[in-house]
Amino acid sequence: MNSYERLLLHNKAWAAEQVAEDPEYFARLASIQRPEFLWIGCSDSRVPANSITGTQPGEVFVHRNVANLVVNTDLNLLTVLEYAVVYLEVKHIIVCGHYGCGGVKAAMSRHSFGLIDPWLRNIKDVYRVHEAEFKAIADPETRCNRLVERSVVEQVMNLAKTTVVQRAWQKHQSPHLHGWVYGLNDGVLKPLVRKGPGVELPEIYQYDDV
Ligand SMILES: [Zn+2]
Repeated sequence: MNSYERLLLHNKAWAAEQVAEDPEYFARLASIQRPEFLWIGCSDSRVPANSITGTQPGEVFVHRNVANLVVNTDLNLLTVLEYAVVYLEVKHIIVCGHYGCGGVKAAMSRHSFGLIDPWLRNIKDVYRVHEAEFKAIADPETRCNRLVERSVVEQVMNLAKTTVVQRAWQKHQSPHLHGWVYGLNDGVLKPLVRKGPGVELPEIYQYDDV
């Protein structure tokens, strides 16, 4: 059997199992989507949003990219964000990084990887801001993991800078923004930062007329 056939086989069994447990399962899911969470995570195959949070289909709206970045010119991310905030009215947005992130490691090196270089530049910029702190960490793995954390906090701030989020805050005091890091070694999620309406953003990022 080809490896991809295993997926189709598992799917068949899974679908049958859901219906056996709850005959209305798919009918209910198909009719409406009302997730409470938007998850912005890394594309890394070891960090699947639903599995590690014990959530089911229908509970989490998901966007993933290399190194879980919130880039203000990324139309894909902005589209997902606006849809989640304006139409789905999610209550929480979670940016989830993970220790040992290959994207962050690559950003820390001086090697050019091609098309991904400008994407990773966003992480290099975070490194530059905290350069003194990173240079004081001798162990490369520890340094990388600290950059993972610093980057997650930065991405949360990037969310707060968007008009989509600021407009929602003015309108209904939500969503709340969370920055978490996942440990590949122990499977544990560590909350780093939580921001709600009234977050202290430098004035220049605050819109008066959203
Ligand atoms: Zn990663």
